[in-house]
Formats: sequence, C-alpha cells, structure tokens
Amino acid sequence: MNTRDRREFLTQTVLASSAGWTLAANPSWAKDENQNGNFHLAPFRFDVTPPKGHSCCGGWIKPVVAVDDPLQAMGFVMLGAGKPIVICAVDWTGILNEAHLQWRKALADAAGTTPDRVAVHCVHQHNAPFACLDAERIVQAQGDLPHIVEVDFFRRCLDRGRKAIVRCLTAAERITHIAHSQAKVEKVASNRRVFRDDNRLIKGMRGSSCKSAKLRALPEGLIDPWLKTVAFYNKDKKIAACHYYATHPMSYYGDGRVTSDFVGLARMHRQKDEGTCHHIYFTGCAGNIAAGKYNDGSKPVREVLTRRVYEGIVRSEENLRPVPIENVQWKTVDVLPPARDNLSAEALEARIANKANAVVQRNRPSFMLSWLRRVARKMPIVLSSLRINDVSLLHLPAECFVQYQLRAQQMQPDRFVATAAYGDGGPWYIPVKEEYACGGYEVSVAFCDPGVDEILTKGMKALLS
Ligand SMILES: [Zn+2]
Repeated sequence: MNTRDRREFLTQTVLASSAGWTLAANPSWAKDENQNGNFHLAPFRFDVTPPKGHSCCGGWIKPVVAVDDPLQAMGFVMLGAGKPIVICAVDWTGILNEAHLQWRKALADAAGTTPDRVAVHCVHQHNAPFACLDAERIVQAQGDLPHIVEVDFFRRCLDRGRKAIVRCLTAAERITHIAHSQAKVEKVASNRRVFRDDNRLIKGMRGSSCKSAKLRALPEGLIDPWLKTVAFYNKDKKIAACHYYATHPMSYYGDGRVTSDFVGLARMHRQKDEGTCHHIYFTGCAGNIAAGKYNDGSKPVREVLTRRVYEGIVRSEENLRPVPIENVQWKTVDVLPPARDNLSAEALEARIANKANAVVQRNRPSFMLSWLRRVARKMPIVLSSLRINDVSLLHLPAECFVQYQLRAQQMQPDRFVATAAYGDGGPWYIPVKEEYACGGYEVSVAFCDPGVDEILTKGMKALLS
C-alpha cells in the first residue's frame, strides 16, 4: 500500500468507526415494557480445559501432559438494557480473528442477542490454547506442523458455552445495585521494557519471569498498580464481582501442565471465600507488563504471586459501596487498523513452508498471515463499552500496552473505568505509537502499523464520551 492509499484507508477506517455506533436499543432510562429499569444478571461458567496432547500457546511450547487446575470461561448475561449483553473471560492465551467471531456468535445465539453485544476476553495464560482457526488451516495445509487449536475441541467448547448460557438464563437474578472499588496490588506488575540505552532503544526484556538479578533490580517502570472491582447486587446480596488487573498472568510455563496460573488461582481462592458470588477476572492492557521484576521463575513464586493478587482482590472489595443502578448503556465502535508495512504474504508463506525453520518460526508467521488476510477482507475489530451509572467497562483487543488503559481512565477522570484487553487477539501486540521506534520483542510481533494508536484512541474516546 503506498502512502496515499494508506492515508485514504486510515481515513475510511476512522469514518467507519464513527458510523459504527450502536447504542442500547432502549437506553435504560426509557421505562417501556422491555426496559423498566428492570435489570437481571445471569452468571455462567463452563470448562475450556484442553485434552492431553493439545497444543499450548500456538504449538511452539510443550503440549498438554497434565492438568494442574482446570481452565474456565466465566461471565454473565445482562438483561433489561435492550437486547441481552454478554461479557465473558476465558482462561486461554488468545482467541483471534474468525475464532473470536465464532465465540461471540455462539454466545450471542444462546443469549438471544447479536455478536456486537458480546465481549469475549482472554486471561492470557500460556499453558493453554491459542485459538486462531485461520492459522490452524494454514499450518494444517503444511502437513508436518503441530496444531494451533484442534477444531473439534474448539467446537466442543462453544457447545458447552451455548448450553451454559441457556442454563444460566433460567436462573437470572434481579440486580438493583452496582459498586466499584480499587486497591493497589503490591509487587506483582512490572514493565517488561525498562532495559534501554540512552536513545530509549530496548536492550533486553524482563518477561513473565526473569533469571537476571540485574534486570530484576531495575525499577518497576510504568504500570497500572490498581486492581479494580465492579460488583453487581440484588439489594444487599452480591451476585457477581469482576476484577481487572494488568499483568501477564504467568509465573512459569512451557512444562505442558495446564493451569489458570496465579491470577486464576487467586480468583479460585476468592471464589472459595464466597460461594454465592461469581468472581470473574479480566486481564487489562498488559502487553508490556509482567511479573518479571518479582519472579525468578522458581516454582514457589507462583504461590507468592497468587497471594498478592488475592490480597489485592480482598482489599479492593473492602471498599465496595453499592448504589442503585440508574442507567445502562452499551456502545460499540468498529475499527480496522492497517497491517504493518513489513508483513508480506509471500515472505510469510515461504517462512511457514520452510521445514528447516523451528516450529515457532512457522506457526507464529501463520498468525501474521491470518491478520494480513483479515485486513484484506476488511473484517473489523469490535470495541465496546458497558456504562452503568459512573462506571465504564471498556473492552479492548489483543495485547495493548498499559498506556492505553491509563489513557482511558484519564479521558474520564470522574468516572471509574475498568479495562479488559485480550479481546479479539488478531493484531497480537499493540504498542503505543512512540514505542515502535524503540524496538524490542513486543514491537517485533506487533502486526499493526503504528497508526493503530490513533485509531484505537479515537475509538476509546468515542466509547467513553
Ligand atoms: Zn503476551
């Protein structure tokens, strides 16, 4: 694409975004028969644990050998604000492109709504499936590559999802109140990109775990320290609590042992405290955030990190003050950020076909090729937000850098903005514009042009205005 074409494409994309609004069919303050301000919540959960031998993280780390704790999809259907709204968090590495649309369609069909009113987000554990049906077709055509995701397993999960939603709707409970609160999590999140030279170029990274004492000794860097909670009540009974925190969720991985890892284990402990409330955990904009400063990768650290996140959840919940739900609004914006200039279909196809390359150098380019083809067929990413009183739940795609969620909160300083990222994972990493020139791992696997920053920021602004 030449510069002029690209400029036109960007303009068209932004126009498409502003035209892509959908408001709740009936804003909640409309007191018609469907609405009444008569809101209900139907929480659900279903198992998404992969079978033995299934690929983890796209097939380039050890496949499943055992299950330490099961993977879950958890969420809720909200009724009473126009067509039903579905929000779901999945203990998988990612759900991308067509696979993400299929998830939203399946949950939408079961809930009696449309896919644009469904937000599906991954928690991003790595000993877990990384589902892209397009990439799966590409690697299977090679004949010698491990699966990205096994399609029959993928379909079984969607079947379970449909059934879970149909079942939960029969037990939907009235919700009258909402509460929000936050607490700082101590010594978990750290920025991965703090090891730089004078020109801010990245000299090395601090990943989920970090063996180098020198890198661990570097400062935390830019993070969002707040664990945010939004809870729904029927009078004084807490029905569901959604927790949001920005960090990669892995303490260690690559051993084939399926686990929801420290954030999932913290969620499970909180669930044990309160059996009647559904505790749901969302990973925020954690593209450049992980526990590396506080994690040398040794096994006991998983328990330490679990405790710190659990304590963050408990401290956050201490400040929940329910207030009556007055209005509810769902908004969406469609965006289609352009692919990186340096992605060429021919070169990617050659890399994937080259049997001398390691699996990671063949399966990973299949994700890149899937993104390139998706952009060519103009399949947008749906951003969405659920606003309830002065609380906004913001739904962003893929591995956004933490700057995006800090920016979202700054856009509406008087409101409580809780951001879930890792929605449609098609673009992989989404750095902010100025980080592209600094290089490093995340930028090397960012599939979008730096123009994604402006497109996403405009979309966020529209959703939060
Ligand atoms: Zn990641």
